[in-house]
Amino acid sequence: MSSAVKIPRRNFLKGSLAAIAAATMFSKEALAGAEAKRQPNFVLINCDDLGYGDLGCYGSELIATPNIDALAKGGTRLTDFYSCAAVCTPSRAGLMTGRYPLRSGLTRVLLPNDTIGITNEVTVAEILKQRGYSTACIGKWHLGCLPKHLPTSHGFDYFYGLPYSNDMQKEHRKDPPIPLMRGNEIIEAPVVQETLTERYTEEAIKFIKNNKKRPFFVYLPHTMPHVPLHVSERFKGRSKRGLYGDVVETIDWSLGEIMKTLKELGLEENTLVMFTSDNGPWLQKKEDGGSAGPLRAGKGTQYEGGMREPFIAYWPGHVPAGRVCVEPASNLDILPILSTLAGGKVPADRIIDGRNITPILTDASDMPDYPFFYMGGPSIAAVRYGRWKMRIAKNDEGKFQHELYDLKADIGETKNIAAENPKLIEKLKPLVDEFRKTLPGK
Ligand code: MG
Repeated sequence: MSSAVKIPRRNFLKGSLAAIAAATMFSKEALAGAEAKRQPNFVLINCDDLGYGDLGCYGSELIATPNIDALAKGGTRLTDFYSCAAVCTPSRAGLMTGRYPLRSGLTRVLLPNDTIGITNEVTVAEILKQRGYSTACIGKWHLGCLPKHLPTSHGFDYFYGLPYSNDMQKEHRKDPPIPLMRGNEIIEAPVVQETLTERYTEEAIKFIKNNKKRPFFVYLPHTMPHVPLHVSERFKGRSKRGLYGDVVETIDWSLGEIMKTLKELGLEENTLVMFTSDNGPWLQKKEDGGSAGPLRAGKGTQYEGGMREPFIAYWPGHVPAGRVCVEPASNLDILPILSTLAGGKVPADRIIDGRNITPILTDASDMPDYPFFYMGGPSIAAVRYGRWKMRIAKNDEGKFQHELYDLKADIGETKNIAAENPKLIEKLKPLVDEFRKTLPGK
């Protein structure tokens, strides 16, 4: 220290301030540019009630999804990706907050006459907005329909879409005509559903073009293929899988248009595109519902068909191409992933259940085993740990009992092996007990 050259304080300060001033003058634009380069854009497509078996790259032979398949070919496809709930509202609550829906109190499907919604939560859009992102929600929101619950009150600069599901116009409830909204204004009611997917696509493309010079987050929760199914004339009768197939093929077209736009604008290498669904197929709708492929059951259940979803991540140069990843992950992980990639932080004042799984997307690293909980409304219905899934189900006499499935050997949950594996059950039970202690009101 003693041998250090002594800089006269006055000059030093003067020099530094000049340097800072120069840097600051320079930085406003330069930093914005550098930041924009560094921070990736995000496009998150979230279908409604799309089944695990409804895409070509997940085994469908009836529905043609060339654009989604190309995304998987150029990116990474997850085989064991979950939604945190088997129905719309809680699934989206978890996606937006990174927290199991019980933590935000949104454990059931909200109806048009509900006065509750997302409150006191930090959404992924809010975190990204703080990091300088432009944010848009284009599609179905379903986290409350009062102004204080709408996307524009939860981190989104722009909202175009429906506040809830496309079947929520029931006379017995005196539901109003289903509204299409821009911002907080109703611009059409009842919404014309035939052209909805195309109009969402146009809106998304417009938003991307208008925000091409700064980082953006486009959340595109399609209204389809939730029943009632609608497509425009030009997509009608295309698919071997009837109207349901036409609807999914329209969504595939939509993705193709968005990818074309990103390419034309030179943004493809700096945009992480993700494609998934909020919950499994609505099997009760028969032909109008989707397919869970090899999985058991569908929407509304805590079997795999209700909660395991397609998930594709595409980001040339960052996410390996053509890879199939079998690591379990969930839509709770989206908030930590996007926050981290944007240089932000997940909230420290509350429990965040999602994990930053960027390593499994970008460099094929394994993540340590962790428990994933399947929530059925406010209850813990099952836990997955590694290859094992333990369900907590009522038997015929109404008593709780455990079922055990080996998901690696038996993806269709056909064989309950609880009776042969009492030690495994004893190992899994404490995971549920520990988790339960963290839940509100427990
Ligand atoms: Mg849904």
